[in-house]
Parts: sequence; C-alpha cells; structure tokens
Amino acid sequence: MKLQTRFFLLILVVFVIVLGLVGVQRYFDTQRINSILTTTLNERKDTFEISLEAEGELFNTLVRDYSFWDEMVEFVKTKNPEFAANNLETGLETYNANAIWIYSTNGKLVYSTTNDEGSIKNLTLPPSIFKTLDKDKFAHFYVETNEGIVEVRAATIVPGDDPEHKKPAEGYMVIARVLSDEYLTKLGTLARSKVEFIPANTKVDAIRDDYISFSVPLNNLDNSEIQQLKAESEVVMVKDLITSYNRQLIILSLAGFVILVIILVGVWLFVLRPIRLISLSLTKKDPGMLSKLSSSKSEFGELARTVQEFYKQKLTIEEAKVRQEELEKLNKEKAAFLSIAAHELKAPGTIISLLSESIEKNAVKTKVNKRVKDDVHAIAHQANKMTSLVNDLRSAAEGKKMVEREPSVFDFDKFLTSEVKELGYVIDQKIVLSGKTGQTIQTDETHLGQVISNLIRNAAKYSAPDTTIKINSSVKGGDIVVEFVDQGVGISESDQKHLFEKYYRASNVKDTIEGLGLGLSICYEIMQRIGGKIWVESEIEKGSHFFISLPLSKLTPPSKHNSQKNK
Ligand code: ADP
Repeated sequence: MKLQTRFFLLILVVFVIVLGLVGVQRYFDTQRINSILTTTLNERKDTFEISLEAEGELFNTLVRDYSFWDEMVEFVKTKNPEFAANNLETGLETYNANAIWIYSTNGKLVYSTTNDEGSIKNLTLPPSIFKTLDKDKFAHFYVETNEGIVEVRAATIVPGDDPEHKKPAEGYMVIARVLSDEYLTKLGTLARSKVEFIPANTKVDAIRDDYISFSVPLNNLDNSEIQQLKAESEVVMVKDLITSYNRQLIILSLAGFVILVIILVGVWLFVLRPIRLISLSLTKKDPGMLSKLSSSKSEFGELARTVQEFYKQKLTIEEAKVRQEELEKLNKEKAAFLSIAAHELKAPGTIISLLSESIEKNAVKTKVNKRVKDDVHAIAHQANKMTSLVNDLRSAAEGKKMVEREPSVFDFDKFLTSEVKELGYVIDQKIVLSGKTGQTIQTDETHLGQVISNLIRNAAKYSAPDTTIKINSSVKGGDIVVEFVDQGVGISESDQKHLFEKYYRASNVKDTIEGLGLGLSICYEIMQRIGGKIWVESEIEKGSHFFISLPLSKLTPPSKHNSQKNK
C-alpha cells in the first residue's frame, strides 16, 4: 500500500475516532439535558396543579362556606328572596362564579341565579349528582357546553355546626363557572406556561427540544375525560445549554476541520511530497528532479543529497568500469602485439647469438686482433641478453612464468660496473657510480642485470638529458643495497602504490612519455624469484629513488660460505 494511502487511512481512522468521541460527548450532553427537562417537568407539573388549585380557590370557597350554614338550611325551606339577593347574588361576583343553583333534598330546584347570559343558564346537570353528593358530600367536575368548558362544584347543605358535612343533606348547592380565555391566561401566568384546552385522550409530548408540556384531564362526574388542560413552557436554562452545546460543537468542528486541513497540507508539503519526489526520481533514475529539494536543510534534503551522491558514485563506478574495460582491451592488444614481436625477435636473436659465439670460437683459434676478439665477445654477450630479454617479455605478455636460469657465481662490484658502463653508451644523462660491496654472489646474473638495466633506463627516460643519475651500492644489515637516484619527474604517492603492477603507468607520464608499463613488473618478479626486494621513494617533480636489496644469506656461493666458516 502506498504511503499516501496509508496516511489518508490513518487520518480517516483518527477522524472517525474524533467523530465517535464527539458523538459520545453529544450523547452525554443529551442525557444531561433530558435529565434536567424531566426534573423541570415534574416541578412544573406540581406547580401547575398548585396554580390550578390557587386559581379555583375562591370559587371553591363559595361552595364550601355557604353549604354549612343554618341560614342556608333555612333558605332551602323559605326561599327568602331577600337572603338570596343579599348573599347569593352578590356571592357570584365575590367568588368568581357564574351561576348558583340550590336544590331541595328531593332534587327540586329551589333557586337559581347567574351573571352569564350564555348557555350556562340551561346547564344540564348529570342526573346522578344528588346520589353522588349524598355519598361523597362534595363534587367537582367539568361539563362541556356551547360556551366552552364549565367547571362545576357542588356540596350538601348542612347546619352550621357540621363543617365536615357528616349530617344528612338538607339541600344541595351547585355552583358553576365558565373557563374562559381570561381563565386560561390567568392560569398561564400563575404556572408560567402557555395553557390551552386540547381534546380528551390526546397524547401530549412530555419533552420536545427545550420545551416541556404536560396535561391535566378535565373529567365529568362519572370520571370520563371530556377535555384536557395542556400546559407548555420553555426551559430557558436548557435552551441556553443547547445553544452553548451547539456553539461548542460548531467551534470544535471548525477547529477540528482547520487543524485537519493544516495537518493534511503540512504532511503533504513536508513529508509526502518530498517522499514522492525522491521515489519518482529513483524510478525515473533522474537525480536532477531533486535539485531543489537537495538544498533543503530537512532530513529529506539530506536524503535527496544522499540519492544524488549515490547517482554520482554510480556514474563514477560505471565510467571507471568502462575505462577499466577499455584498459583491459588495450592491455590485451599490447600483450598480443608483444607476444608476436617477441616471437619474431627470438629467431634473429638466436641466430646472432649462435653466429657471434661461432666467430668468437674461430677468433680464439686464429690470431685475430684482441680488440676484435673483445668486440665479438661483447656482441655474443649482448645477443644472449637480448634473447633472455625477449623471452621474459614474451612470458610477461602471455602471463606465463619467466624462464628459470642457472645461477652463476660472480663478483658483484664488477658486474655492476660493467652493467653501468654498457648503459652509459645508450643514455644521455651522466651516470655517477659510487660505493663498493666487495661481495661475490651466486644468482641469476642475466636477470639481475636486466633489473639494473631497467632501472637505469627508466631513470634516464623520466629525467631531462642534462641531469645526473647516481648509483650507489653498499652492504647494509646483511643485504647488498643498490640505490638509483634520478632528478626526473618523480612519482606521486598514489601512483607509487601500483607502480609494480603489470601495465601500470603513472598519471604524470602516461599521456606524454611512451611506455608499456611492463618493465617494473618484470623487475619485481625477478627480485622476488632471486629472493631480493625492490621499492621506491619519490616526490613528484623532485626525482625518484629506486632501491633493490639482495640478501647475502641467500646469495653467497657455498664455497664462500665454507671459506668464511674456515676463517
Ligand atoms: P614504462 O616505463 O614502459 O612505462 P615501467 O614498468 O618501467 O614501464 O614503469 C612503470 C611506470 O613507473 C612508468 O610508466 C612511470 O610512470 C614510472 N616510473 C618508473 N621509473 C620512473 C622514474 N625513474 N621516474 C619517474 N617515473 C618512473
């Protein structure tokens, strides 16, 4: 899965978790609001019922106070108009009632009065009212009329000494009032709610948003519901709470959204985009795409620089590989050429060598001038050397081991002087030979001569013609050490490390001075074979010191050993 997809999935998970947490918080908020609303509902309902009572208190007082009264018992019998005018008619206004009916014990209407012009005059009372009153002493119920709902209260009429209405009824008092709009308004003010009538048995929503509503049934005498009084009010505290929760939610959502956007943009800019760029540059193998990023100081800038460095090194390795391949091809061609050249040179060399040896033999027999004899000897010697050289060249070119030669016993100082003298003819520089070893050694003379000749010719080849080549021989710590010092171009330290490798040529000369890079590798092999060492010390532009060392312990001839022992 790509990093971007993973990241977006992660953000999605975080988003869902945050949403979940907000949901949980919201759930608890709602629970809290509901609990507040339920408590408030119960309190308000109690308050409403108290208000209902309070509002009807005066009306209730009329029926309660007038029904246990000796004068009222008297009135049922006498129907005294004066008593009715002074007490009952005035009572209507005083006690908020709209109508009063007085009945005798046999249920006959004794007296009625009303201050309402409406249908209350002809209000039909439920037939069971007297029976109920005989049983319960008091009655309180509602009746539906054309004018609206009418509240009715009734009581048995008893003497003044019976406030509990325990004695049998001596008449019945019924009062009524119309529950008008004013009544609803007054009740609403008392209960701090909006109060209205609603049809019987209508279900009332107890809690809706920040509103609470409840109803009180208005029952007929037989306890059947005729209508309900519904009270509805707003809970301001809850309203404020909901507003505050909503505001909180909006602020939180906005803040969350802004933070999310900032995180998204930040991660895209500072993480995903650089990663995408690096990955693209790797797939397209184009480090140039990272040029801007690599100048950044961030970790990605560092990574970009590493990628660029990686490509740079890869390029260098590839170029080096190509160069190495070219070099190997060139070396193969050189080797092929050398092998052919050596092969071709071998035959004439052998012929010259054989012929000069034959002339030398004849010269000894015949009386030939000594000078001619010496020259012929020199020619034979050089021809032998040349054959040996050609053989070694061929072995080196073909990667074979060089031909072993029988060791000979010789005086080292004479040998060195003779080699130096021979070389003196072919180089421009002046050679200064110093030192003596006084040693006779036994080794491969021809090959050792080849090493010395190679070192002197190199000293000459890499120095100006008017310089001097100094050669010094000595015995140091049981070794013959010969030093070849020139005033030439010198060799850098890095080149010195590879100097004895086959075909290696130092960088300061390889394009300006011709050469095959084989001579020193042959010298190295010869020195190893005869048990000696070869090394170099040099400083660029200041000249070179080549050294060879020959261990006397290995090279002293056996006879000398013996004679040394005998001494
Ligand atoms: P060639 O001389 O044919 O190149 P050599 O094997 O003899 O091959 O030498 C190897 C390299 O060593 C030379 O190419 C040259 O760079 C360096 N070299 C050898 N001798 C000297 C010297 N005396 N002074 C400076 N450089 C030398």
